Amino acid sequence: MPNLAWYSHEICFWHDPGSGSGYLPVGPGIEPLRQFAVDPDLRRAEGLVKASGVMDRFTPVTPTPATDEDLMLVHTPEHIGRVEAASALGSGDAGVYAHVNYHSAQAARLAVGACVQATEAVLDGWADRAYCLVRPPGHHAEPDRAMALCLYNNVAVAARAAQRAGVRRILVVDWDVHHGNGIQRTFYEDPDVLYVSIHQEGLFPPASGLVGETGVGAGTGATLNVPLPAGCGHEAYLAVVDRVVTPAARTFAPELILVAAGVDAGGHDPMGRMMCTSRTFHAMTTRLCHLADELAAGRIVFAHEGGYSAWYQPMLILATVSAIAGLPEPQDPFLHSLEHLPGQRLRPHQTRVIEHLAAHHPLLNSTRDHDGRLADQAR
Ligand SMILES: [Zn+2]
Repeated sequence: MPNLAWYSHEICFWHDPGSGSGYLPVGPGIEPLRQFAVDPDLRRAEGLVKASGVMDRFTPVTPTPATDEDLMLVHTPEHIGRVEAASALGSGDAGVYAHVNYHSAQAARLAVGACVQATEAVLDGWADRAYCLVRPPGHHAEPDRAMALCLYNNVAVAARAAQRAGVRRILVVDWDVHHGNGIQRTFYEDPDVLYVSIHQEGLFPPASGLVGETGVGAGTGATLNVPLPAGCGHEAYLAVVDRVVTPAARTFAPELILVAAGVDAGGHDPMGRMMCTSRTFHAMTTRLCHLADELAAGRIVFAHEGGYSAWYQPMLILATVSAIAGLPEPQDPFLHSLEHLPGQRLRPHQTRVIEHLAAHHPLLNSTRDHDGRLADQAR
């Protein structure tokens, strides 16, 4: 059985973007309630994992904050300064819809630290698989800009740290319902980091994550976007994993897999319009762990990203980490109602993006020459 490590820190749960509604701060027409990414919900998720007994399979690790040296693997000093300054003031926007409180700068450093240290633990062989329950999320944060609840790009910094440690090829899979524009931008010209994003077409950021965005220069072919139409459920997501992610990963041959494992494609999430269930996240996670076993000596790190259903997020995280531990799907009291809604079956309009990618994406229609570089057979 693989060695499993669990990274979380209490201070991550103290990050709070302040009073507002949904994703907007209090302002004209917006009553005080709470913004998303306030995380009593995440602490509740950790509670469910503990109560279920699944936490006992993991070795808990308390991360240390990422250093400036770590953060600057991806971010500019000016960006780090803006996050620190806004947080020191106790409130305000550190970028674009990236509000903070007094604890946010430290929480964000701990979130990055968790992902970097989990990656290093997996590379050292201390752990095989790791899960990072972190806040704030990261995949929208760009090198020079905090964005959409994300202050630093946790997974992107972890990938750069793996490269610093000598890893040549890294696969990043991102199944958060939004497009990870920050991860894509970081690695858009890098042939050694394959970024695969499965997201709801046109959701956020606007006009980001199109099928035609496949990388530039040396990085051409090392970005793979799967923008799915709203309403996709269990079968559509598994079809993408089986028909896009798996063959792309086998061609790319990563030495490490990182997963931006948001759960906002869940069927009760207020920020997305997808239909995934605990079974979906359990099945996708199992497949990714098996891919890591096949291709990357078992080395895989999962980091939480989005997830905004107060009642369903804990169950989706439990399903994810149960699969990491090789355990069966958890008993999910919400499963019955979600599986009886229309939309769990794969529909023809959903397969179109898969078929398009299979026909046109350089990585899905290519072989490697003996130097390990991608060679497009279609040309
Ligand atoms: Zn998201």
